[in-house]
Amino acid sequence: MDIKAIRGMNDILPDTVAKWHFVEDTARRIFSLYGFTELRPPVLERTELFLRGIGDETDVVEKQMYTFVDKSGDSVTLRPEATASVLRSVIEHSLLNKDPIQKLYSIGPMFRYERPQKGRYRQFHQINAERLGEDGPLADAETLSMAYDLASAILGHDVLLMEVNSLGCQKCRPGFKDALTGFLADRQDRLCEDCRRRMYANPLRVLDCKVESCKEAVEGAPLIEENLCPDCRDHFGAVLTGLSILNVRYEKNPRLVRGLDYYTRTTFEITARGLGSQNAIAGGGRYDNLLSILGGPDVGGIGFAFGMERIIMLMNERAEQVSGCFVVAQPKPEIEQEALGFISELRSSGIRVEAAFGKSFKAQMRRADKAGYPVCAILGENEMASATLTIKDMEHAEQRTVERGAALDDIKSMLIRKGEEK
Ligand code: AMP
Repeated sequence: MDIKAIRGMNDILPDTVAKWHFVEDTARRIFSLYGFTELRPPVLERTELFLRGIGDETDVVEKQMYTFVDKSGDSVTLRPEATASVLRSVIEHSLLNKDPIQKLYSIGPMFRYERPQKGRYRQFHQINAERLGEDGPLADAETLSMAYDLASAILGHDVLLMEVNSLGCQKCRPGFKDALTGFLADRQDRLCEDCRRRMYANPLRVLDCKVESCKEAVEGAPLIEENLCPDCRDHFGAVLTGLSILNVRYEKNPRLVRGLDYYTRTTFEITARGLGSQNAIAGGGRYDNLLSILGGPDVGGIGFAFGMERIIMLMNERAEQVSGCFVVAQPKPEIEQEALGFISELRSSGIRVEAAFGKSFKAQMRRADKAGYPVCAILGENEMASATLTIKDMEHAEQRTVERGAALDDIKSMLIRKGEEK
């Protein structure tokens, strides 16, 4: 077929889907330990939401949005990130009136028109968490700890680096911005075109620029930490203490920025070894003004987003650990019908079960082995005649024949034993 998937948009094929399930299940398990629940916003929103909720000075909004006019003439956009959508939903449904603390997560596809490369796609998936209604530093520490727990549960501690910084607040940041603009003005001939423009409107973004000459030009730039007001300094100190209590391994990175105006105070990023240049697996931070920018109450929040493709690229080859029974039946109608009845019994008691009807005995056994089933139930002419089943332990290559009526319990206890051995 000459119709192919759109560049930068990938199929997730059955041989990797087990990893996706594992990552999603791990996120759900860990997030529920922190009292988070799921919110599922739509993937398509009014364009205006992202213009306001991300900011029109950003690469995402300037260059990367999938925006189009729908049949009723409205400008709509495939979401490039989840935070704006989640907050829109919180505001629209007055969730903060029902409970002034909201801890929400969402999982799903995002869309950005970027130049595709390894680890960078046009449709990618994020696990996103938002915690609203708590201003204190320990809410930040817990949120960062939750992100760290997720990353380390999947990848282990050793490959991870969590970097933390504070961006100050509306009181102390203007002074820092002025100092930074002054510093950059003396070096503007070394800045890229985008940064020369950003230098006045949003100089923090220059610190984040990946262009080599810009990276060199900002060496020696003033540090935010040295310009924090006393409240922000206390807040940052208490976040770091909280992280230590929670056993999160972190490093301070005074150059880490999220270049949007509404980001305040705590900001962080998790990177992983082994991903080359696209090594950021998660990033996030506090945003004390975003809800009100979007028309909601004056309530602060903190959140983060994990890139699922990148985590999955790093996961060890994790063969799916099948637990279940493959039923092998002599390919004769009456024997297959008998097998079908037994399959239904197994499945009704919650056991995963498969068969391959109409295939030769040998082909069925091969398939059971390849799919990784630990147990096979075999039904041939002899078993049919004596109302028995042969149960084969695939791992130990042992088999025995049991009464048809005892087979279900026998398989069940065998699978439980095997589960416990793992
Ligand atoms: P951001 O929303 O830009 O802060 O990104 C959060 C995380 O999403 C990053 O750390 C990446 O892991 C992931 N991510 C962002 N953009 C892409 C992309 N185009 N393709 C794959 N993963 C991405």
